[in-house]
Amino acid sequence: MPWCPNGHENYAGAAFCSTCGSPIYVAPAPPNYQPPPGPGFYPVPGAFPQPASSQVRSNAKVYWATGLVVALVGIAIALFLVVNSDDSNNANQYPANVQTNFLNSCEVNAPVAVCDCALDYIERRVSLADFQVAETDLRNGGAPPQWLYDAIGACR
Ligand SMILES: [Zn+2]
Repeated sequence: MPWCPNGHENYAGAAFCSTCGSPIYVAPAPPNYQPPPGPGFYPVPGAFPQPASSQVRSNAKVYWATGLVVALVGIAIALFLVVNSDDSNNANQYPANVQTNFLNSCEVNAPVAVCDCALDYIERRVSLADFQVAETDLRNGGAPPQWLYDAIGACR
């Protein structure tokens, strides 16, 4: 049964609504059904721009890679700054265990700041080999080398 635009039911074939007088139009016939294109229609992959979804994914990859590069550069700069802020001009640092031994024995008798400074002073002037010879002498009851006095004196 045809219905008018205001929702009134009318008898078949009515041109106007029997309740409100609105014209009743017959719904147009559906457009001719168009079958989807066959397999031959689709382009060879890569011959045409990619669908939007993979465009988004590849953009996300670019952003991710850019972020990684930025992070790595940031870490490299941070490491560079840390290394450079600590004894930046001292190319003759002793191994960590040698430094620790020196500082531990020094700090028994002197403030930490003086010992840190003295170690730096000695590293700049005394080779590791000379330092270890003097260290062994000291352990065996030998006299402290002059550069040790110099270092403490320079750092007080
Ligand atoms: Zn009506």
